[in-house]
Amino acid sequence: MHPINHSDPSNPEAFLRDTLDARRKAGLERKLRRLKGAPGPRVTLNGREVLLLCSNNYLGIAGDARVKDAARQALETFGCGATGSRLISGNLEPYEQLERKLAEFKGAEAALVFTSGYQTNVGTVSSLMGEGDAIFSDALNHASLIDGARLSRAQVNIFNHCDPSDLEQKLASRTTARRKLIVTESVFSMDGDLAPLRDIAFLARKYNALLMVDEAHATGIFGETGAGVVEALGLRGAVHVQMGTFSKALGSLGGYVAGSRDLISYLTQHARSFIFTTGLPPAVLAASAAALRIVRQEPERRQALWRNVRRLRDGLQKLGFAVGPEQSQILPLRLGESRLTMAACRLLLRHGIFAQGIRPPTVPPGTARLRLTPMANHTPQDIDLALAAFKKLQLALQTRHARSVRVSGAAQDHSAAAPAFVKR
Ligand SMILES: *Cc1c(COP(=O)(O)O)cnc(C)c1O
Repeated sequence: MHPINHSDPSNPEAFLRDTLDARRKAGLERKLRRLKGAPGPRVTLNGREVLLLCSNNYLGIAGDARVKDAARQALETFGCGATGSRLISGNLEPYEQLERKLAEFKGAEAALVFTSGYQTNVGTVSSLMGEGDAIFSDALNHASLIDGARLSRAQVNIFNHCDPSDLEQKLASRTTARRKLIVTESVFSMDGDLAPLRDIAFLARKYNALLMVDEAHATGIFGETGAGVVEALGLRGAVHVQMGTFSKALGSLGGYVAGSRDLISYLTQHARSFIFTTGLPPAVLAASAAALRIVRQEPERRQALWRNVRRLRDGLQKLGFAVGPEQSQILPLRLGESRLTMAACRLLLRHGIFAQGIRPPTVPPGTARLRLTPMANHTPQDIDLALAAFKKLQLALQTRHARSVRVSGAAQDHSAAAPAFVKR
């Protein structure tokens, strides 16, 4: 072993260590936390029971007895793995059932299930668009949509977040593009706000563009049957590519596209992330199908979720936190600086609440936050317990602010002040 020379940029080991050091210093180092047992509304984290307030298992379906039964039965019948790419040897019976149900749920002619939502977006965007085409992508779109756009070699036009007039300006200026695709999430994953889908659908028609909507965080939550915001707004006929996942409210795994029969056939032929990967385990497919049934038949879960969202949001506002207007089940509590956000996360953990800090590059620099997501199966007492912990956080933040203003004057960067509770 050679000693690592930190100034040598060509030394690959030095590169790893320097990069890690820099991330740590910037408060951006990510660590895996050990969760023990089933991920319900409460979990055991590092040996201690805490209230889980950052799960995507919004409806608590991941642990539902019927979902587990369905998975267990499929496991008995079909074994563990799909054993091949779906196009070669892995297109098991549960796939057909799930895709049929999914198409019906989404009001589409057909549907295609991928191994994950990430793979769905990468494969769909990159196969639909190519050189000479133009993609119009919301500034806060998920990494999987960004990666799909990059992979496609099409020209990527990023429009201001939820801004139809900026989108229109960009659509109007790209007159030489062969084909156009507009891509947006319906519920934004880290901000919880809703895309102006009616306006966007209007523009898609006006400029003859395909419209793709990622409903990862809307499926199961919005719409009369839980199919998403596209259902809620009556836009099924206007959205060409309805994308979503089983990994969030449905508590399972897998991504999908619903759309026309031609679209689904095209993706089956061309989406590389569909073709060159192994199908999902049959137990996962059966769990997704059972979850879909529950989502459609039990709207009371959505009502319970909204009750908890409202209770948490109202309580946070009373404490003086700005959580924005209620749009979805995702409540972003922006704190700005990364180290401060992680300190807040640790403080809440000490008071029995797990709300993970979200930092760049998941969110833009300077907008680190706690992303709070109540669940349908939290009790009102759970939410009140969380609010008591947030009250402690608010006190710590106020003390910190008073101290940094006193010590350094208002002009100094707060992040440099490193108050007592950040260090602990
Ligand atoms: C989570 C997520 C995905 C990816 O889904 P997975 O099934 O977890 O791979 C895609 N898009 C958005 C907006 C997401 O939040």
